[in-house]
Amino acid sequence: MNNTPKVARVIVDGRQLAAHEGTPLLQAMLDAGLDIPHYCYHPKLTIDGSCRLCQVRIEGIPKLQISCNTPVRDGLVVHTEDAEVALARRGVLELLLLNHPLDCPICDKAGECWLQNYAMRFGSRFSRTLEPRRKHAKRIDIGERMLLDQERCILCRRCVRFCREISKTGELAIFDLGERAVLDIYDRRLDNDYSMCTADVCPVGALETKDFHHKLRVWFLEETASICPGCSNGCNIMVCSYKNRIWRLLPRRNDAVNDTWMCDDGRLSYKFVMEPERLRAPLVHHDGKLQQVAWAEGLSRAATAISSFKQANGGKAFGAVVSPHLTNEENYRFGELIAALGVGRVAMAVRRGKSDDFLIKPDKAANARGVRELGLVRGNDDGLEELLNACESGEIKGLYLCGDDVFDLVGGERFARIIDRLDLLVIQALKLRPEFGRAIVVFPSSTFAEKNGTFTNHAGRVQRIQRVLDLPADWLNDGEIFTGLLNLLDSRQEHFEIAPIWEAMARDGTAFARLRLDEIGTGGAMLTADLGINRS
Ligand code: SF4
Ligand code: SF4
Repeated sequence: MNNTPKVARVIVDGRQLAAHEGTPLLQAMLDAGLDIPHYCYHPKLTIDGSCRLCQVRIEGIPKLQISCNTPVRDGLVVHTEDAEVALARRGVLELLLLNHPLDCPICDKAGECWLQNYAMRFGSRFSRTLEPRRKHAKRIDIGERMLLDQERCILCRRCVRFCREISKTGELAIFDLGERAVLDIYDRRLDNDYSMCTADVCPVGALETKDFHHKLRVWFLEETASICPGCSNGCNIMVCSYKNRIWRLLPRRNDAVNDTWMCDDGRLSYKFVMEPERLRAPLVHHDGKLQQVAWAEGLSRAATAISSFKQANGGKAFGAVVSPHLTNEENYRFGELIAALGVGRVAMAVRRGKSDDFLIKPDKAANARGVRELGLVRGNDDGLEELLNACESGEIKGLYLCGDDVFDLVGGERFARIIDRLDLLVIQALKLRPEFGRAIVVFPSSTFAEKNGTFTNHAGRVQRIQRVLDLPADWLNDGEIFTGLLNLLDSRQEHFEIAPIWEAMARDGTAFARLRLDEIGTGGAMLTADLGINRS
């Protein structure tokens, strides 16, 4: 039986639209690019029909109809621009603004507020009321990460439905009726793992995140499409930046990955990019201390030390730890370096943490699957225990550690013992740690916001990240560090560029050969539909 919905044809303002029968008329009009004002309707929430702003006139029906709750059917003739509709919209907006505090100058939502936008476009320019405005509580601390301003709320119930239908935690409700109706929390605070999404769905400034509260006017922000680095789900995001600093992350719609949501941990994960302890230049061991040097000197010291180590011990005595935070392209290049050195054992260190049956995945890194698909690591723990054992037994005497997670994962006395036994230690990490004192060279690593490339999420979807922040002119990102070392150690003259790396990945017959770089659009592309590996 064919269950595909029938395509219906609808005439809207004289223009013919096609949509699946049963689709909300509002959604069909929005999909066709029509700008129909609405508040309570959200494509990922059930229909509420409470704001009445999306009313349209449908020929043959005596009264105006809310288009969010009108299913598309063949032959509908709809008017969205006539005088009756305009009057109804103006009436709705006047009602919503009766008690609104009009504190836009101190509201975080100003500039992206749909009450402001629609009032300017469809509302009346003056107020007819003389009565004082209703007073409600402002800046109520309703959760660890959320504030509520009850005066600004237009009772659209999007946040209530979000907490019931998406986070399934039900903290919010509308209490009382009529003019006394007010949004509030029940008996517990709004502290679910997705609480900050309520600020996204709120069309006005009633729900605000503490993180962005009174930080910056939104019209200064530049938005760059990217991928959340917080876990292997690879939620699609917009990175909002201004003056070379990230101010917030917002979810970006991708129905195959995260719909229009993201978790709070992921949303706040941008903070590590700006941590003051970030390494800012290569460090080399000199007179018993680590000292800052220029990039060229860092590369040359590392290459010399690696080369002497290899001559004395052979490549097999070398171990490498790959980072699941680097891009597919960077890790491919690291794989080339590993192969050129003849490294004995390769592992990956992935921090694991809480997960749920919605978005949050246990691998707390964006590209663990990319490393596995490149064939760099094997085994349940990605070869980490075997590598550590080999270090303890003396089989591995030199280590190239890439990424910061290995220090958190192994840490403590065991790690100190391992490091003490090594003859060579090269590190590529974001932050300086006490354990780095034994390293010959420490290179600063770059974050997801400082480079272009791709991540592969837990399901095998390859998605692009884009550079948002500028770095010093002489800065080398991780892929460029590997390339620099490869050039020095293997007499090559390579550059680190994404397109040639994809050609090389295809020539090498890696899993990435199934995909072309130009097939990866804004929503990403699957490596294949039926790969077996799907561990997180
Ligand atoms: S707080 Fe915002 S999303 Fe929630 S009901 Fe009020 S206006 Fe709607
Ligand atoms: S679920 Fe994972 S990828 Fe998505 S926002 Fe949270 S941490 Fe980021």
